[in-house]
Amino acid sequence: MQGFDFEEETIKREIARVGAKRVLLQLPEGLKPEGPRLAEIVAQAGALPIISADPCYGACDISVSETESLGADLIVHVGHAEFVRSARVPTVYVEARAKVTVDEAVRQAVALLSPYSRVGLATSVQHLQTLNEVNEILTEAGKIVLIGNKGQLAYAGQVIGCNYSNVTSIASDVEAFLFVGGGMFHALGITLSTGKPTFIADPYDNRAFSINDEAQKTLKQRWTCIQEAQSAKAFGVIVGLKLGQKRLEQALSVKALAEKHNRAAYLLAATEITPEAILEFPSIDAYVNTACPRVSLEAPEKFSKPMLTVNEFTVAVGESSWESMLKKGLFEN
Ligand code: SF4
Repeated sequence: MQGFDFEEETIKREIARVGAKRVLLQLPEGLKPEGPRLAEIVAQAGALPIISADPCYGACDISVSETESLGADLIVHVGHAEFVRSARVPTVYVEARAKVTVDEAVRQAVALLSPYSRVGLATSVQHLQTLNEVNEILTEAGKIVLIGNKGQLAYAGQVIGCNYSNVTSIASDVEAFLFVGGGMFHALGITLSTGKPTFIADPYDNRAFSINDEAQKTLKQRWTCIQEAQSAKAFGVIVGLKLGQKRLEQALSVKALAEKHNRAAYLLAATEITPEAILEFPSIDAYVNTACPRVSLEAPEKFSKPMLTVNEFTVAVGESSWESMLKKGLFEN
């Protein structure tokens, strides 16, 4: 996989620095094919590599307990920047920066951004190194460019699937956002968190496009889920077991709120939130997901019962309105 920087020298250096004898390699799904090659690099550095075959969807998912149970002394976590850290096991983050050029896609985006003069810029960790170049292109085109830095993520301008604090921090100062990177996932998160028109400069397909139709479709689905959940008599409140998804206090607050509104609420702990695991409880009518809000957004396609984010749940039980929730965003930050 030539399109990404896997920082092989960093991996070797960290193994030597930590004195690691056994290393757990964690890769997200799209980068798993690199596992055996990186295992060879680990072995050359004198440590026993073990590749995690478990799913790894985000920076929240650092396999600390699994590493300890394997007797490993270092995690090499590929594809994400640091988001959560455990003091129990040293972790090296290999961010897998993309080597693809972005200028053609950004120049196409300039045409779409013509109605707007103030533009917020954001990207995933794979393309952070392009932000200066993108900023220059937009500035040359007459735009005032803002890049947010709320301090919750590793880098200014960075977004991850459940944390859009860098864009919400500048949303009131811009008219639209440009996301640099592939796919619709992050741009959808930006527009759902800020309510601003959002465009994608996709360097893999060399094209730019708007996410706004997709966002409208998603909002309709979310409203339908909330309406279905309004009649629920019993809620399952999901607590994630992954390191960065465990929000037990928040789950307890959701349970208390459900009970205040005369609904039953049961805490459900899960590592992977799949229909097979979650839908085994026929007496539960709807779910509130405190683990990963993006699973909720995929819910209408994957789950036969409503799966709400915490903010959506407050609408379902009448603690807030749909309009005020939209101002706050579907996610927490
Ligand atoms: S909680 Fe979900 S969206 Fe957030 S980093 Fe983890 S997998 Fe990604």
